Amino acid sequence: MASSAPSKTDTQSETHIVENQSPVLEDYNVFESDPVLFDALLREGGAWGADRARTLGGRVGSAEVLQCARDANRHTPELCSHDRAGNRIDWVDYHPAWHHLMALAVEHGVHALPWRYPQPGAHVVKAALAYLMNQGENGVCCPMAMSFAAVPALRAEPVLSAEWEPRLLSLCYDARFIPASEKRGALIGMAMTEKQGGSDVRANTTQAVRAPEDGEGVYRLTGHKWFCSAPMSDAFLTLAQTDGGLTCFLVPRVLPDGTPNRFLLQRLKDKLGNRSNASAEVEYSDTFAWRVGGEGDGVRTIIPMVHHTRLDAAISAAAVMRQAVVQALHHAAHRTAFGARLADQPLMQNVLADLALESEAAATMAMRLARGFDDATADPAQEPFVRLATAVTKFWICKRAPVVAAEAMECLGGNGYVEDSPMPRLYREAPVNGIWEGSGNVICLDILRTLAREPQALAAMVDELRAAKGGNAHLDTYVAALEKDLNSAALDAGQARTLVERLALSWQATLLVQHAPGLVADAFCASRLDGVGGRTLGTLPGGADSMAITDRAWRG
Ligand SMILES: Cc1cc2nc3c(=O)[nH]c(=O)nc-3n(C[C@H](O)[C@H](O)[C@H](O)COP(=O)(O)OP(=O)(O)OC[C@H]3O[C@@H](n4cnc5c(N)ncnc54)[C@H](O)[C@@H]3O)c2cc1C
Repeated sequence: MASSAPSKTDTQSETHIVENQSPVLEDYNVFESDPVLFDALLREGGAWGADRARTLGGRVGSAEVLQCARDANRHTPELCSHDRAGNRIDWVDYHPAWHHLMALAVEHGVHALPWRYPQPGAHVVKAALAYLMNQGENGVCCPMAMSFAAVPALRAEPVLSAEWEPRLLSLCYDARFIPASEKRGALIGMAMTEKQGGSDVRANTTQAVRAPEDGEGVYRLTGHKWFCSAPMSDAFLTLAQTDGGLTCFLVPRVLPDGTPNRFLLQRLKDKLGNRSNASAEVEYSDTFAWRVGGEGDGVRTIIPMVHHTRLDAAISAAAVMRQAVVQALHHAAHRTAFGARLADQPLMQNVLADLALESEAAATMAMRLARGFDDATADPAQEPFVRLATAVTKFWICKRAPVVAAEAMECLGGNGYVEDSPMPRLYREAPVNGIWEGSGNVICLDILRTLAREPQALAAMVDELRAAKGGNAHLDTYVAALEKDLNSAALDAGQARTLVERLALSWQATLLVQHAPGLVADAFCASRLDGVGGRTLGTLPGGADSMAITDRAWRG
């Protein structure tokens, strides 16, 4: 019989020496370590939110919250469709870590701040909070974004809005499965996508019939929704067909009398990322719903929701980039190879600086866009520009996030590929913002439509792009060439991505020339606008001051 006492060889006590591993990055303030975000918050009118951002930044970087993020993604939600006796319960069971993170986000107003505190800079402060929260855990930010975005859409129906808005603005997270009227706070999701079409919502086949016996504006819905995230929300903005055409509805999860609505969860999606957050397929079967807006006005009614979730998608993608870059910078500062710290080796410096530039450009653009939402609140004439800017920003940042996440992962070597680090989660998360709230092509075609219908949007964008004229020769040449091509390019659907990419790069460069240190703006323009930079990250041209760029990026 083998002895149970381990031999010296078994324990390997003398060889198992841990050295040259970077420490876990935790118990740091995600806001205070980010000078780019701090500057943008102040510049774009959100200085009054700095203390809020500091508080949330401390929580998000804490070991406790980062552990919750790991737990919520490892112990993913489970569908409990029936109880043990066979009765439908349509319940989703989440790990306690999910509820902890939801409470954290709601307490800090990530879902509602601009509506609770409607003042200049409110969207900028909210964007900063969402940027921070997304660096802790992305899944919970999906219900935050949808609840935030539901408010302007619901306002199409003043009676419903007066009833629901106070619940949506509450800073209490209340996960109980009871009527919303009895809860301390409520959240709203959306159910637009069907099997036969997500981008093309006019292909929706879910039917809505009037049910006046159930109350004013009440309908009954029958059909199937192919994607419905955060299915334990209290209500869902839903599109369905009436005699008058595609119409928007609010579907409560629990009816006012306390009985469950017929909101039948068929299964949960087994997703690549965003795994802490449940996304369900839902059957509507004679399901109770209130109409929001007029019959046939469904798209017009729900567009404000889509517009606001696009802002959040851009912020989320920028946050994924930021957190990936922070992890790369942290690792490179602690790891040595071939006798020197990675962060001190010229080629790694080039990679890290290129990553930092991409992240800074994304954050700067997202925060400028958030100010656009504040500007448009004060002056509706700004709305066409903000619509265009939102689509450009959403397309571009979401396209860059997976590229940045993959390169940052490589900076950690093999450790970056292992689930002990946050990199696999960030990498899996990176593509989703490009898919939901308008996939890339759909966004680019939207942009062409905006250019055709709202020439003032383009005129305002051109003004914005001229704001840094004379600040960088590469930028001047790039913008002049773009302006020359704009009219013809705006007519060519097949070239829409090329046009949007040029608009996005011009805008990012313009913002950096105006607001970032010269060495950042110069390196960005030289590498992105002049054809000198390569197709991979880490190909900044020789003159770039990589050390100074990375020093600026991270106060670790
Ligand atoms: C994790 C996750 C959660 C989601 N949660 C929700 C939710 O809560 N509620 C909800 O309603 N939906 C949700 N969705 C669905 C999402 O919004 C849709 O998947 C998305 O809108 C795309 O629709 P689709 O899947 O039907 O693809 P399609 O519309 O079939 O598009 C497929 C591809 O074709 C492209 N395309 C479409 N039209 C054109 C065109 N005219 N020219 C060129 N290219 C085109 C698109 O850009 C896309 O790349 C979720 C999706 C995911 C992945």
